[in-house]
Amino acid sequence: MTVYQAAVRHARWMAGSLLVAVMFVLVIDRFFGHSTIAFAAAIIGLIAANRRMLSYNCPVCGKNLFFRGMFVIPWPNKVCGKCGTALNEG
Ligand SMILES: [Zn+2]
Repeated sequence: MTVYQAAVRHARWMAGSLLVAVMFVLVIDRFFGHSTIAFAAAIIGLIAANRRMLSYNCPVCGKNLFFRGMFVIPWPNKVCGKCGTALNEG
């Protein structure tokens, strides 16, 4: 598996986690009333789930696949934005 494919899997996993987090907050809200704790727990869960994101780096220059300059995009680069390495090959 290439680093790009691994990063795509992570991006999908994060999309699923986000959905679960939103559902969690909505369900708690519906049955127990508005809860700041549920919201905080969802945010902490997402941050924890997203920690792996930092390990998807270009094998040549080490630039993170999810960073576009100073911005973070929830989908990985196919081509390294810094050194131009094709991350979807090999
Ligand atoms: Zn690179």
